[in-house]
Amino acid sequence: LSPVPSDIEISRAQSPKAVDVLAKEIGLLTDEIEIYGQTKAKVRLSLLERLKDQPDGKYVLVAGITPTPLGEGKSTVTIGLVQALTAHLNINSFACLRQPSQGPTFGVKGGAAGGGYAQVIPMEEFNLHLTGDIHAITAANNLLAAAIDARILHENTQSDKVRIILSYPDDNFSSQFFKKRLGISKTDPETLTEEEISKFVRLDIDPSTITWQRVVDTNDRFLRKITVGQAQFDIAVASEIMAILALTTSLQDMKERLGKMVVANDKKGEPVTAEDLGVTGALAVLMKDAIKPTLMQTLEGTPVFVHAGPFANIAHGNSSVLADKIALKLVGEKGFVVTEAGFGADIGMEKFFNIKCRASGLVPSVVVLVATVRALKMHGGGPNVTAGAPLKKEYTEENLQLVADGCCNLQKQIQITQLFGVPVVVALNVFKTDSPAEVDLVCKIAKESGAFDAVPCNHWSAGGRGAVKLAQAVEKAANQKNSFKYLYNLELPIVEKIRIIAQKVYGAQDVELSPIAQSQVDRYTRQGFGNLPICMAKTHLSLSHQPERKGVPTGFILPISDVRASIGAGFIYPLVGTMSTMPGLPTRPCFYDIDLDPITEQVKGLF
Ligand code: ADP
Repeated sequence: LSPVPSDIEISRAQSPKAVDVLAKEIGLLTDEIEIYGQTKAKVRLSLLERLKDQPDGKYVLVAGITPTPLGEGKSTVTIGLVQALTAHLNINSFACLRQPSQGPTFGVKGGAAGGGYAQVIPMEEFNLHLTGDIHAITAANNLLAAAIDARILHENTQSDKVRIILSYPDDNFSSQFFKKRLGISKTDPETLTEEEISKFVRLDIDPSTITWQRVVDTNDRFLRKITVGQAQFDIAVASEIMAILALTTSLQDMKERLGKMVVANDKKGEPVTAEDLGVTGALAVLMKDAIKPTLMQTLEGTPVFVHAGPFANIAHGNSSVLADKIALKLVGEKGFVVTEAGFGADIGMEKFFNIKCRASGLVPSVVVLVATVRALKMHGGGPNVTAGAPLKKEYTEENLQLVADGCCNLQKQIQITQLFGVPVVVALNVFKTDSPAEVDLVCKIAKESGAFDAVPCNHWSAGGRGAVKLAQAVEKAANQKNSFKYLYNLELPIVEKIRIIAQKVYGAQDVELSPIAQSQVDRYTRQGFGNLPICMAKTHLSLSHQPERKGVPTGFILPISDVRASIGAGFIYPLVGTMSTMPGLPTRPCFYDIDLDPITEQVKGLF
């Protein structure tokens, strides 16, 4: 339709097929799905065992240029591309997306189901609770936080220290590890000497070193000020447990990663883990359903996995390894799996390659780099783009100079992609205000800058039909030579790895660590965690650490204010500048528009 109706009107106008019908179409067996309502189902991991000899399909990553605060359409392109591949070119494909956090849904950006005629439906199911995975993460995260506090309290107040030992159950994973920790064969805790108890039983957590934060899935600035001991609140999607969900490869692996999470130091400076606290088994129980990807569908009835939702600025920004692996088996050798890395390629894609691909062992065939005329104009010196405010005339009228000047950001993001040796196709997501000359100019510059191809896409207004050219370009690029490589060697010192990302990807002159950051680097290196990949927490609004610096900033020194470690997830986590891990709500939050019709039970005004 023209004009294109709102996302929620389009979503509601289409009747999704029953999810068990979809599951059958894509080759799932009845006992491999767990149905949640009529349009969502969790998929059991046993599928991976059944399909283990099946060759993988082609793996496509959708990334983007440095965006405006409104988003440039990566999710929309991801959905448009799979709709084009499957519904129009008859090639099996799967989209793998992240589950949106309630932070942006009720805050600034809105949902993440795509938009226009390229969406996951029903979009209100997708954007709200889905199948409860984020709630499970919140529960697990906060149970661990409570376990830390309780342990400190009991170790300090219990006169009979042996009761701490007795409090461990005998027959689960935790107690086995506990016995290993004791390193002694005594089975009757009553016979332990005071020295043995001190040496093996007390965790002696140093409260000033606790790094575990409580989380909640709301943009709630107030919680930045609430301090619990030394810890504050983070948004749930920044929890290490979310990162583990996204990076794990099996239930056993998830359990091991949960156990390895380091929450503090003991008074001797040694790391204290979730396993030391005896909480691994309980965390795994809370997460046992969340580990299964959720199956949904696009507007054109093609399959989608929604699984895990770390942000790309304050976390590693990619959906789950498990969803990608299952989807790669389901599409077959000639099929395509399209997954999305959050925000600009400098953050989401860099972490996709250096963190997610390392965890999965998968090698992508193509990167699709999404650009918009509006974001390029902003990089070329156009006025600020603010969520909720009408766009200024520079963005609604043709202005070839602003576009040409802003293409420096596109060129730089193409160069960043090339550092990893994977062919890049630029997808220009066309808005109705873009002129043909602006569209041609972007595609021309993209090709001159080393893109394998550059194509305008109209999936937002035309559905999969509008992304057929993109799908054909992606198919061709997937047959190109691929010399995929990681950006840095894991054995390098932590600071050297940070410097490589800062200089080669962001274009910084150098990095500068605060004294706290340096002492954390020293601590993690001493504790033997120096050989992990790096997950930078950096603004998505600029290649640099300063959101107002658009285009391609140069000559800056990247300030590292703090360094944390997510040992279970498997990365070191430097905080760049004043990056906050608890976002706040804007002056005009999206929740103003959201309402429920009590008669029809329909959600209104989501987008
Ligand atoms: P990203 O994934 O890059 O953050 P999204 O795909 O979520 O971006 O798109 C952001 C918003 O912009 C969505 O509300 C979507 O409906 C809208 N949008 C995307 N592409 C277009 C387009 N071509 N024309 C108009 N609106 C669009």
